[in-house]
Amino acid sequence: MPKIKEVIAYLEQIAPPFYQESYDNSGLITGHPEQEVSGILISLDAIESVVEEAIQRNCNLIVAHHPIVFRGLKSLTGKHYVERTVIKAIKQDIAIYAIHTNLDHVYRGVNHKISQRLGLQELRILDPKPATLHKLVTFVPLPQAESLLHALSQAGAGHIGNYQNCSFQVTGTGTFQPNEQANPHIGERGKLEQVEEKRIEVIFPAYLTAKVLAAMREAHPYEEVAYYVQTLVNDNQEVGSGMVGTLPKPMEEKAFLQFLKDAMQVQVIRHTQWLGQPIRTVAVCGGAGSFLLGKAIRQKADVFITSDFKYHEFFEADRRILVADIGHYESEVFTKDLLWELLSEKFVNFAVHLAKANTNPVFYF
Ligand SMILES: [Zn+2]
Repeated sequence: MPKIKEVIAYLEQIAPPFYQESYDNSGLITGHPEQEVSGILISLDAIESVVEEAIQRNCNLIVAHHPIVFRGLKSLTGKHYVERTVIKAIKQDIAIYAIHTNLDHVYRGVNHKISQRLGLQELRILDPKPATLHKLVTFVPLPQAESLLHALSQAGAGHIGNYQNCSFQVTGTGTFQPNEQANPHIGERGKLEQVEEKRIEVIFPAYLTAKVLAAMREAHPYEEVAYYVQTLVNDNQEVGSGMVGTLPKPMEEKAFLQFLKDAMQVQVIRHTQWLGQPIRTVAVCGGAGSFLLGKAIRQKADVFITSDFKYHEFFEADRRILVADIGHYESEVFTKDLLWELLSEKFVNFAVHLAKANTNPVFYF
């Protein structure tokens, strides 16, 4: 049976923890990574009733979107619902793993799932993250250039959008003089050497830095490898908040909100005043998304679908966009399906279940 750490390694390949917000607490919250998995229960929230359901259904791993422990715990006495959940999970050997803002921020994450349900096309990240890409420049003798590039690519470098093995290369002359303690691959101790080398440049996600540098050292023939790593200020088009896309055909705004209700299984939508304009470009952000209102307007979205808009934030739309607040739970509930698809495609030795419990703490009357 696969271990909890193997499930985590798979999920973290999809949504690297590096991409979570600084305030977040994604990761393993209870449980031991070495334990074998008996079954996985997927939920938006890992509350007490979900731990109960996991026990009933013989699942010792809960994969939840929201981390049950968010701001830390100072005691574990059971006076608060978070404490009760954690106590129950630990007593019953249930692991809880949270995949939160890191899953919000990857291209095929929470917002991609919403966009899919709405049939949006030409998808792109609404607010790409800057400074999450690094560039490596290194210099290698011509005969080893190809194997070095291969090793860098295996470590995850040189991947841009739909393109792999992206690099820039130029040939030049490298010089060095080994001292008496050196053990040079080319040349002699104490003698100035000139070697025809390739300068190789590749980009890679910043979180892979250690892996890429290790691969470079492994594949490089020199005792001392000349290289430098730079942080790029470029946006990373594959990582960031929200998503924007277009409908296959424009829709009248009231018809669109009805369509939205059906597609996201929403009872009530709170929205800004009608603008009398057709809806074509749609911005989405699962969970609390008011911080992206300006970006949605700048991207010329006709509607912004999100949740947790406050009274004064509705004014900010200022007739520039239609804001549709569909509720936090409602905006993210299909994240469960996304996780189910990812996990059941990969792991066949144990059951992957969607929690039956509706964890929405908000009721409508
Ligand atoms: Zn949320």
